[in-house]
Amino acid sequence: MSRIAFIGLGNMGAPMAQNLIKAGHTLTVFDLSAAALAKLAESGATVASSANASVKDAEIVITMLPASKHVESLYLGDDGLLAHIPASALVIDSSTIAAQSAIKVAQAAQAKGLSMIDAPVSGGTGGAIAGTLTFIVGGPKADFDRAQPVLAAMGKNIFHAGDAGAGQTAKICNNMLLGILMAGTAEAIAMGVKSGLDPAVLSDIISKSSGRNWATELYNPYPGVMPNAPASKDYAGGFGTDLMLKDLGLAAEAALHTRSAIPLGELARNLYAMHSAAGSGPLDFSSIIQPLLKKSGS
Ligand code: NAD
Repeated sequence: MSRIAFIGLGNMGAPMAQNLIKAGHTLTVFDLSAAALAKLAESGATVASSANASVKDAEIVITMLPASKHVESLYLGDDGLLAHIPASALVIDSSTIAAQSAIKVAQAAQAKGLSMIDAPVSGGTGGAIAGTLTFIVGGPKADFDRAQPVLAAMGKNIFHAGDAGAGQTAKICNNMLLGILMAGTAEAIAMGVKSGLDPAVLSDIISKSSGRNWATELYNPYPGVMPNAPASKDYAGGFGTDLMLKDLGLAAEAALHTRSAIPLGELARNLYAMHSAAGSGPLDFSSIIQPLLKKSGS
């Protein structure tokens, strides 16, 4: 069992940290939100007074932050986290960030003699709670092997995608597809409902037909079809529209770097950008169905 510092206890980080405690690890945690810290203290974690204080005796450091800017500003700089992590510790960043950012931070860690991997996740808050996340790891194979027992307490499928940054690249390919599939699923269900179909019946039909996907099977965007999906909880929790918009922005950046055409990824990015601009940024991304459910005048 390891001494683990866990920083970033939001929709994903909190249940991931709780699963590590359940597996018998000793956790010291930090978040900017007092409410998030109180929740983890109740679960048995020690609350640190700062991010730097949390890593003092850590054998493993895990971060689960919103975006590249949070990860870079936490780790880098003269008084950044890297300056405080014990040399023997393994650093795991599970945030979804730009591959270039992941490489930059991993190189800075390496320059300080630290081992670091990028290990973004897939599986949503449901997967984080159930401990069934998919981890997509970039970094040296030896560090991947060392991380396995810890990642296995939070996830079921653990992949080594390649060198530093490769985990982020694979994750962004996945999330671009997820953004497209959720928008497409929302479009199909909204049209079905406007045509008089019962959303639950239509969703069941799609789930057992060729249009089935993760949204129809586990994360239905129509309220009431799946009691545990964010759609049935006023789109609270889950995966925020603004986080999906961030990921589609990362996909667009990757496409620019590689001269890839991503016509549907760009279309999805524009849809989520308009949805966010209309005030839905904090809502779960499946709320992309809301504008589609509005009735036209005719
Ligand atoms: P969230 O916004 O719910 O949580 C982020 C947490 O980080 C917050 O509690 C915030 O207070 C904390 N934080 C921010 N800056 C900090 C700092 N400097 N020090 C300490 N704490 C800080 O986000 P989330 O939904 O948990 O997502 C986290 C990451 O996981 C994102 O990169 C997201 O893209 C990715 N992700 C999310 C999901 C999902 O379904 N929510 C699924 C897969 C991947």
